[in-house]
Amino acid sequence: MSSVWERVRETRRRIEMATARAGRAPGSVKLVAVTKNVDLPAMEEALRAGVAAIGESRVQEARAKRQVIGDRVEWHMIGPLQLNKAKYCPGLFTVVHSVDREDLARELDRRARDHGVWQCCLLQVNVGRESQKGGCAPEKAEELLRALAGFDRLRMAGLMTVPPFDEDPERARPFYRELAALRDELNRKGAGREPLAELSMGMSNDFEVAVEEGATLVRVGSAIFGPRPGPLTEDKET
Ligand SMILES: *Cc1c(COP(=O)(O)O)cnc(C)c1O
Repeated sequence: MSSVWERVRETRRRIEMATARAGRAPGSVKLVAVTKNVDLPAMEEALRAGVAAIGESRVQEARAKRQVIGDRVEWHMIGPLQLNKAKYCPGLFTVVHSVDREDLARELDRRARDHGVWQCCLLQVNVGRESQKGGCAPEKAEELLRALAGFDRLRMAGLMTVPPFDEDPERARPFYRELAALRDELNRKGAGREPLAELSMGMSNDFEVAVEEGATLVRVGSAIFGPRPGPLTEDKET
């Protein structure tokens, strides 16, 4: 089996190929290597291969790993977030991808102010309308974003989604296209304080499709680190 180093290289190559196919500028997609349940030696190997952003879905795991790895990389929170864990986020995570409700945003805003930082966030949208998944309903995104514009310590930088799982990456394409269209519509309406630039979409089995549809951040775990024990879709709240 190939090494983590080789798989990082291969993933980056595939991202750049898809970027070129879509007629997008080279380097316009950031690889977020998802390291939930991944041990420190494998993470170090990924960093040596050039990974610059780490995605974690549990606050405790991210805090423990950051103690060792430090801030040589960006730390991204990609999993569902409980209100009582929001206090740990500002100062720990560069980007929180999973903001999907006002009470969570309010708490992140308050904690960011206490910490003296501005928290970059993405609005998670449940484009697949799956009841078990996080994210606001697409038709609620505008109202929520307008409400969040009042939290001046949050920088809402874009949208994120996790589509319904399917072996066939083409089945994810309509969901990614919908997220990109929603981002453009929200920008046209001026719903956020600043324009939404980012689209966090695409995982191991469909990141090339996501890049073709405009992803700026892809979250890739098992294609780099191998299969994970446990559920492959979405974690319980941390
Ligand atoms: C686990 C996870 C990923 C990575 O999934 P892979 O299929 O292993 O690439 C991406 N996004 C979220 C939100 C996740 O929880």
